[in-house]
Amino acid sequence: MQRHMSYLQKHPSITRSRVNNFINDNQWKDVNIKATLYDMRISGEPHVQLEAWSAPGQDRPTFEHAVKQNFKPAKVGQLFGPSWTTHWFRVTATIPESFAGKKVLFMFDTNSEAMVWSDNGEPILGLTGGNGGERHVDYLLTKCASSTESPRTFYVEMACNGLFGNGDYHVHPQDREIYYQLSSAEIVAPNESAWQLFHDLEVIVEMANRLPQESPRSWQALTAANDIVNVFEHSDLSTIEPALEIARKFLSFKTSEASHSVFAIGNCHIDTAWLWPFAETKRKAARSWATQLYLMEDYPEYRFAASQAQQFQWLLENYPSLFKRIQKKAKDGQFIPIGGTWVEMDCNLPSGESLVRQFLLGQRFFKQHFGEYCDVFWLPDTFGYSSQLPQIVRLSGAKYFFTQKLSWNNINKFPHTTFRWIGLDGSHVLCHMSPAETYGAQCRPGELIDSVKRHKDIAYTNESLYLYGNGDGGGGPLRSMLERLRRMQDVDGLPRVKQAHPREFYKHVEDTARELVSWKGELYFELHRGTYTSQSNNKRWNRQSEFLLRDAEMLCTVAHIRSLANNNSEFEYPSDEFTRLWRMVCLNQFHDVLPGSAINMVYRDSDSIYKDIFESVAKIRQNALYSIYGHHNIVEQQDMTKDIAFLNTTVWMRSDMVKVPESLVSRLLSGFGSDSHSVQRSAVDKDNVFALVNNVPGFGTSHLSNQIYRANTATTIMTEPVVRSVHVYQNASKDSFVMENTFVRIVIDSNGHITSFYDLNEQRELVPKGEMGNVFELYDDVPLYWDAWDEEVYLREKFKPLDGVDLAIIESGPLVASISARVPISDQSVLTQIISLSAISPRLDFDCEIDWHENRKSLKTSFTWDINSDFATYETQYGVVQRPTHRNTSWDLAKFEVCAHKFSDLSEYGYGVALLNDCKYGHSTLGNTTSLSLIRAPKAPDEHCDMGSHKFRYAIYPHKGTFSESNVVQEAYQFNVPLLQIPLGTSSGSQMVTTTAAEASPFFSLTGAPNVVLDTVKVAEDDKSSYIVRLYEAYGGHGRALLTSRLKARHVQKVNILEEPIANDLDYKDDDSTVKWLQHSRTVEVNVKPFEVVTLKFSQ
Ligand SMILES: [Zn+2]
Repeated sequence: MQRHMSYLQKHPSITRSRVNNFINDNQWKDVNIKATLYDMRISGEPHVQLEAWSAPGQDRPTFEHAVKQNFKPAKVGQLFGPSWTTHWFRVTATIPESFAGKKVLFMFDTNSEAMVWSDNGEPILGLTGGNGGERHVDYLLTKCASSTESPRTFYVEMACNGLFGNGDYHVHPQDREIYYQLSSAEIVAPNESAWQLFHDLEVIVEMANRLPQESPRSWQALTAANDIVNVFEHSDLSTIEPALEIARKFLSFKTSEASHSVFAIGNCHIDTAWLWPFAETKRKAARSWATQLYLMEDYPEYRFAASQAQQFQWLLENYPSLFKRIQKKAKDGQFIPIGGTWVEMDCNLPSGESLVRQFLLGQRFFKQHFGEYCDVFWLPDTFGYSSQLPQIVRLSGAKYFFTQKLSWNNINKFPHTTFRWIGLDGSHVLCHMSPAETYGAQCRPGELIDSVKRHKDIAYTNESLYLYGNGDGGGGPLRSMLERLRRMQDVDGLPRVKQAHPREFYKHVEDTARELVSWKGELYFELHRGTYTSQSNNKRWNRQSEFLLRDAEMLCTVAHIRSLANNNSEFEYPSDEFTRLWRMVCLNQFHDVLPGSAINMVYRDSDSIYKDIFESVAKIRQNALYSIYGHHNIVEQQDMTKDIAFLNTTVWMRSDMVKVPESLVSRLLSGFGSDSHSVQRSAVDKDNVFALVNNVPGFGTSHLSNQIYRANTATTIMTEPVVRSVHVYQNASKDSFVMENTFVRIVIDSNGHITSFYDLNEQRELVPKGEMGNVFELYDDVPLYWDAWDEEVYLREKFKPLDGVDLAIIESGPLVASISARVPISDQSVLTQIISLSAISPRLDFDCEIDWHENRKSLKTSFTWDINSDFATYETQYGVVQRPTHRNTSWDLAKFEVCAHKFSDLSEYGYGVALLNDCKYGHSTLGNTTSLSLIRAPKAPDEHCDMGSHKFRYAIYPHKGTFSESNVVQEAYQFNVPLLQIPLGTSSGSQMVTTTAAEASPFFSLTGAPNVVLDTVKVAEDDKSSYIVRLYEAYGGHGRALLTSRLKARHVQKVNILEEPIANDLDYKDDDSTVKWLQHSRTVEVNVKPFEVVTLKFSQ
């Protein structure tokens, strides 16, 4: 003994290699511990009988369907495929007499994902084949075999995909024709003692490797491991017991009172779609969660958390018995539903209302099926966290937040671990970012050591959360992880480990933390900035879905509450259909779908989901309009149209330039002459004319006939015209075009660039000398690794400016002036653009169509303004965030590309310019140049990403005053929400329409606070006689708003986003006296705080 110790002391690194070799699958595995792990194994007939049936195409049949099919003999070595197909095995295993007295497992390795089913159709356990770290292929046949075992029959459903689908997302995008080999189907008897020693050694050896090398425990670990190697003899199993004794002695030393506490929770991060379609996720969740129930039987201390109500909903539909078993384990406290949202959504792109619905749908589901709301908002893996989340989380009944994604930042290290996260409005949640910096930890001592080392707030709070289990498609914790965790729960040298509900961790922090640091505002993710732009059609449809649902819910609420008030059942609010539609919108907002980082298959699925949404919403909306305007008044055929009602679904009065059928206008115009200033024939769209619709009240209607009549009267009697015309002309030297209305004069050069943008009222030039706007730039877009995800910091260094050609005047006033331009991008790609100025606004609109066939390029448009500001303003959910226009520090630099919703704005004292859009999210402002990202061309994981044609619109909106003195929020809203055109079969002169239209207009009015926006109107979830109105403060100031409703109500109260009265939580903002209901005038007086989201419930 004396001799070998001195060797160890002088050559610890060699000894470390020696003990590492002892537990690894290497060239020594026939003489190291691996040689002893199984006592016996047997395969082939007669002990193992295999039959298989292959489902046709990419069908994923049910158990009931599959087992009735014609199974044919199968054997080990056979190939199954191609990718995405499903194969069912009927396995009959007969344990030989020689296995009597032993624990017996069945090992079935398809090199893919699979599910074991009992012969009566109960899903038992998921399998992951292959040689990766996620491998788990054994299924317990018996804990102790008898000498007369009868044959056992069970089924295995093999899915031809791996944990990462069928591609590796950076080299082979997807859908390779992969065939998977059935490589083992055998009956084995493990040597339990050898396994115990193996798990002991995994812990001891890693402690020797990872503890500070000079620490006593590191030396003790190395000595213990080395002693074990010396004692062990693979051919003499009696040496295992003395080896175990050495291990036990080392592991028996306990942690001290002052040790760091790790709250461990098993999980498997199942991406709801990513490198596989939604249909496979349904099975991944079933496989992963069945496995956890299976493990819980052997490990009563085991706690497992699963998020995403959508996955539970799928389980409920497709695996009802498994769902029931999960409900039972949830009651016992072992299986923990968590998170509170419908899916783990992207938090950059969805609208405020979408985020609210994520929680509304999620929390209601968890409450209904598991008896309580989630108090931990759980989002380990999304690409940035909106500054409005703290408020929304609090309004959803939760108060704790978990993530770790910011550990991926590639510029700055996020400085906190456990902190108070303060949102835009001042609401706060207790946030923890696991210091192990992963949500897929493997239960290794090194990760626990890192949990202490990387904890940035350990001075104040001596505990952390630790999420272990294989994620990225599922699988979850393995048996070996639970074995290691048992050994590590209280051992000197490591932190103390406790398996616990995450809520326990947060409560413990609340109770014991001395003080906590704070972080105010967004948790900007310094990576994956390309996800604001990739898969641009998907993003466009998300935006459209959000606004279509908004209009439809508002109209249906009006129709429904009016119908109730009239005591008829003419219209019933389609609550279930809205739930279905919002669930689909929320599903597509999953953090690998909407951001654009999934495979092509996923986007084909989401395309059809959006199609369903658009068609269904159109139907619902039409029914509501029939109810509000009278079915007999609304016509579907154009030649029957006698008038058009314009419905304004924003809450403020607005005037818009609209396009209406030419035939209709000529009928309405008879007697007024055709040179009216109130209509303009469109040069490009021969069947339509432009018409000005003036002063449509908020949530009210205006009729075209009235509009034209009024406009004509005005011009005919030669008083001041309703509008002054817009003009467009080519200047004398023919090298540029000029567009001019009452507000602005814009000069566009022959390349399509804006060289002058002059505010006539303010007498102010907005384009600095020598600078331009509407400049297209084609960038080299080659990120470091994550193709669809990343636009990198060096992108701005390498680009090509593009010039427009073939500029031509296409509409020349008096209502609308337009210039068309073509911008050749390459031999394969071209953009066409129509630049329009109307007679009624300084807003300059850009309508674009692009045919895009590039490889790793991205296209941006940029505008340089004579505005001096250190920050720009970007719209976020229910408000705005300000970000620097300079790159002073690395934190400023990291925000070289940021997310904004409908606009960004650059303002200085007295003046500003906003850039509006109808479906884009990627923005940047450097100095006084502001850019909008239009399209990218990544090739992985979807090799077809964004190839083909796209439409999008953006606009320049100059305004007097700073952003907070402007009406940019309203203008951007209008840019996204057109007036709704309702074709009527009778003119407004007729009694019928006057009555219904009068009744319908306006449904709500909001006065007193121009900074407050009415965003949502819907019928209450649990009470169809009540309705919900959601407002928010959009500019960052206080407001006292008076909201008048024309819909019947007796009582109003402030509720949270789950539509429940706001609890008297002293920790939360004060809520009393902020709402006053003046019933006689049906007006509610609301005091709104900066960026506050206010939900009001109107009840009968
Ligand atoms: Zn994920």
